[in-house]
Amino acid sequence: MSESPELVPALFIGHGSPMNTLETNVFTQRWRELALMIDRPKAILALSAHWYVPATAVTSMENPRTIHDFSGFPRELSEFEYPVPGSPALATRIAEILSTRDVIQDDTQWGLDHGTWSVLAQMYPEAEIPVVQLSLNSTFSAAEHLEVGKALHALRREGVLILCSGNVVHHLGMLDRSQHDGVYDWALQFDAEAQRLMTSNPAAMPQIVDHPEWLKAAPTPEHFIPLLYLAGVAIESGVSSEVVVEGGTMGSLTMTSFIVK
Ligand code: ZN
Repeated sequence: MSESPELVPALFIGHGSPMNTLETNVFTQRWRELALMIDRPKAILALSAHWYVPATAVTSMENPRTIHDFSGFPRELSEFEYPVPGSPALATRIAEILSTRDVIQDDTQWGLDHGTWSVLAQMYPEAEIPVVQLSLNSTFSAAEHLEVGKALHALRREGVLILCSGNVVHHLGMLDRSQHDGVYDWALQFDAEAQRLMTSNPAAMPQIVDHPEWLKAAPTPEHFIPLLYLAGVAIESGVSSEVVVEGGTMGSLTMTSFIVK
């Protein structure tokens, strides 16, 4: 297989703080540039760290609500709305692609969480492109997340932008708010290894759990897991990922992001 001009690129975005919805920084500027670089997709499939549940579910409502799944942020953020349409048709298509996996079509429970809308509010502030979310099934092994990513690659031929939203390094317990752009050495080392694998051998990504800093980088795995979906897309596409922005903030959070073209 080789790169094809009809394929919509797929992304992993390090989303970081929910405040990235409202702020302008080197990372949010890069998200905006990516949106300008990519041909306008027909729809977006988002996989967010913040929908990590023991089931495979896809949002199938016409108008997904904006979920404010955080606390302690300014009112402007807790009242922020991203009133984008959903796409029941895309939800049905995803259930078809993942037909061996008991996909729940969720038309009442979830919606769009901030892992999805904090990024899309920067990329597509007009909120016009339909968005569907697919849960990260917490019962899956790394290999299963990778397999689902491979299956979702088919959507790239159908005008769908796959947005995987998490963070390569995400240790909230070790955050140091005095370090604005600073990142701990161990976090940089782990992030560099993720970059090495994603740009050379994405099929080896599950082995990163053997890295000496794994437990610090991902004390809980949900922010890392979306990267496995992009690795799956890359494997199925026959190409490696490219780094679109790297770096981090507050010591133990890296914002490194990748694209599969
Ligand atoms: Zn998050």
